Amino acid sequence: MRLYALLAFRCPHCLQGKVFAGLWRMHAECPVCGIHFEREEGYFMMSVFIGYVISTALAVPLIVVCYVQRAPVWWYVGSNVLLLTLLSPLIFRYSRMIWLHLDELFDPRG
Ligand SMILES: [Zn+2]
Repeated sequence: MRLYALLAFRCPHCLQGKVFAGLWRMHAECPVCGIHFEREEGYFMMSVFIGYVISTALAVPLIVVCYVQRAPVWWYVGSNVLLLTLLSPLIFRYSRMIWLHLDELFDPRG
């Protein structure tokens, strides 16, 4: 259930309310249970690191493919810039969702 809520961008507390109001914009509070998503200032800094991990996990296979194919250097850079730019909305959203759900698991709200 929690995994579905994470994948479907649902609230980490009630697992029902939508977290995002648009492609890049989050609701401040859950529309169903009313919890405030940003617990404190700088709360989402940890999601930046999760975003780095996701981006690296996406970039490394592409780099390996370029290496195996003996592609020119600009292919390494160009293909990664293209991939990560196109997927940046998903990387942004899932890094925040993973952080919200991990935080709720280890430090549940009352
Ligand atoms: Zn909720």
